[in-house]
Amino acid sequence: MNINPLVIPIFIPHSGCPHQCAFCNQSIITDKVKTRITEQCKSRYKSPKATLPSQEQIRQEVDRFLEYKGSRQEVQLAFFGGNFLGLEPDDISLLLSYAQDLVNENKINSIRFSTRPDTITRESLELIAPYPVSTVEIGVQSMNDTVLKMAQRGHTAKDTIKAASLLKLYKSKIQPTNQIFETGMQIMVGLLGDNDETALDTAQKITSLEPDFVRIYPLIVLEGSLIAKWYRQGTYKPMSLDSCVKLVKEMFLIFQKHNIPVVRMGLQSSDLLQDKASMLAGPWHPAFGHLVYSELFFDKVLELVHKKIAMAGICPDTEKVGSCNTNLDRHVSEIILTVHPSSLSRLRGDKNHNIKRLKDIYPSTEFQIRTDASLDKHEIM
Ligand code: SF4
Repeated sequence: MNINPLVIPIFIPHSGCPHQCAFCNQSIITDKVKTRITEQCKSRYKSPKATLPSQEQIRQEVDRFLEYKGSRQEVQLAFFGGNFLGLEPDDISLLLSYAQDLVNENKINSIRFSTRPDTITRESLELIAPYPVSTVEIGVQSMNDTVLKMAQRGHTAKDTIKAASLLKLYKSKIQPTNQIFETGMQIMVGLLGDNDETALDTAQKITSLEPDFVRIYPLIVLEGSLIAKWYRQGTYKPMSLDSCVKLVKEMFLIFQKHNIPVVRMGLQSSDLLQDKASMLAGPWHPAFGHLVYSELFFDKVLELVHKKIAMAGICPDTEKVGSCNTNLDRHVSEIILTVHPSSLSRLRGDKNHNIKRLKDIYPSTEFQIRTDASLDKHEIM
């Protein structure tokens, strides 16, 4: 994977979309950026809100972002918020040629975009082949056809399977040129008709497609989406934050087991998403991913503590993780947990939540937290 590239997002809200999916309102998610880069854009495509940025606007945005490049080696120009390969072929080539110019000027290194699985075809991949596209992200959402239908996606799980195999073939063809090419998959949890079982099954099925990375988004009820109407009618009930964090944690573990990086959990924090008027309901948290990592650390601590006390012969039942408080209280007055400095907040949890929970389980044991930069970021000692 490209390590920490500078990604310069160019939002093309709903451009190339065949219709509006039930959960989606990209205009809300990307509104601030959209108004900045698309003031003089021409409207086209089926959605009245669809717009394409001009070369000048892309250039300005790139120059603005390059000020924050720092020591990063790789710069990617990213077309997000729409269905890139659903644009008219001429427009795809036009946007890619703008990006190519920026590559020629050494301002950016490569291009990435997000697109629907049903737009990945031999023809569309041939169209992008002359350009330095390094990453294609597919909006998979779910691998369950009933869930996809209820979300009004207009494609099936089979389309994703087909897209994944076409992208693999494409990658094998461009490999001799030494050009980096990665495929990402975006999944949504909390869709109508979805549950823990179908979401975990989606994660399992995605691992067999071997993407280079995944993103997991919880469904947030956005004003202007069809889900918002269903929510008001009472036919859609969003997930609670707690159950969503627990589900995403289980999905994360599935991907981790298959060495597939989860590069994002939760929607990007933006001013508009914190605006209650745009966001009606759902498991929103500005640091959703942090909550998931904190849960993972909490589980690890419980497992570690229990393993230690089982080894010491205090509690012989290794299955009863976190439930032998009486034994621990009697024998262990203090536990020192050591982590890498960058993992300290994950260990503590949001507002020290993990430490409070440990105290609830082991009320008479003192928990001390220390840091050690020589430890791995995922390690707890
Ligand atoms: S989810 Fe993707 S395809 Fe569906 S309306 Fe939103 S941007 Fe378009």
